[in-house]
Amino acid sequence: MSSQPLTQLRTWLASQGLDAFLVTQPQNRSYLSGWLNDDDEGAGMLLVGQQQQLLFTNPLYKEVAEKEATGWQVIVPEAREYMPVIVDVAREYGWQKIGFEADAMTVAEFEKLYAAGQNVFTLQSFEESFVSTLRIVKQPPEVELLKRAIAITDQTFAYICRWVEPGMTEKEIEWEILRYMVELGADGPSFEPIVASGPHGSMPHAHPGQRRIQRGELITIDMGARYQGYCADMTRTICLGEPAEPRMLEIYNAVLKALETCEAGIRAGITSKEADALARDVLEAAGLGEYYIHSTGHGVGLQIHEAPTLSKRAPDDMILPAGSVVTVEPGVYIPGWTGLRIEDCVLVTENGCEVLTQSPKNLVIQE
Ligand code: ZN
Ligand code: ZN
Repeated sequence: MSSQPLTQLRTWLASQGLDAFLVTQPQNRSYLSGWLNDDDEGAGMLLVGQQQQLLFTNPLYKEVAEKEATGWQVIVPEAREYMPVIVDVAREYGWQKIGFEADAMTVAEFEKLYAAGQNVFTLQSFEESFVSTLRIVKQPPEVELLKRAIAITDQTFAYICRWVEPGMTEKEIEWEILRYMVELGADGPSFEPIVASGPHGSMPHAHPGQRRIQRGELITIDMGARYQGYCADMTRTICLGEPAEPRMLEIYNAVLKALETCEAGIRAGITSKEADALARDVLEAAGLGEYYIHSTGHGVGLQIHEAPTLSKRAPDDMILPAGSVVTVEPGVYIPGWTGLRIEDCVLVTENGCEVLTQSPKNLVIQE
């Protein structure tokens, strides 16, 4: 990754009157240091000052951190006690005010740091880390990695459509998705795939189970490959043969229209609320509003869900900037009957958006 985010972080530090910033959120740590590591328990943290960039880790990760975190001074505190070392460093550089990520530190860690640093520095919490904010607009190399993750996802889906047969269990399909993605070069999945068939489809995050898929029913597959840390996210709803009930096709077409309307309306500067409404209004007009039970989308990058969101609950001033990559994923869930969702990843541009997901959107995939 370029050194630009680090420069931006330092400019922000100065504007906030902070001497240093402590980064404990795993993907923020990866983003700044270039060392890809999702371990959210013991892999360590970053401490950034105007001249210093320190990476604290444990002996397990020393070698890889030194190799991959170019330009970072790797420090391995004894017995994994990070807080006393932070205090030593703060004394050495005369740091009096240190910012930290409130959403990525436990109360126990905070209390330790607070107690250790009491006579040396004050702490300032930030509910939303500035580093997470930097991650919203993707740099060109990040877009390339996302495109690769999405391409692997598209290829896996195409393969699954050829391979799948009535009588297979949801679980079998899940495992085949995982196997094929890795064969194509994915790190692994960006989240556990969802395969929700028939009545399971009304539960947006249903876990694949032993249910056997049947001809004529709706099957929702939500999946994504991870490539060099970057997450793809795609949903397609398919039907082996013609849908058993004509209403399934009607609802499918309404969801597809919601997706297409939203994608046609997204451009840089649109608010999160407006983007959400583009899809929601279509489903409401079709009389399906009460069955649309989640937000229209979310940012994707090093995390499967990251800022910004496309949501009616988003703050009024949240916008989608050019260069952000978000999902558009309207769905309809009718309890006890069935449900469906269609989801693409799109790159927000000045005048519109580029749909990155290439998989076809036909409901019927086999005769
Ligand atoms: Zn998804
Ligand atoms: Zn999603």
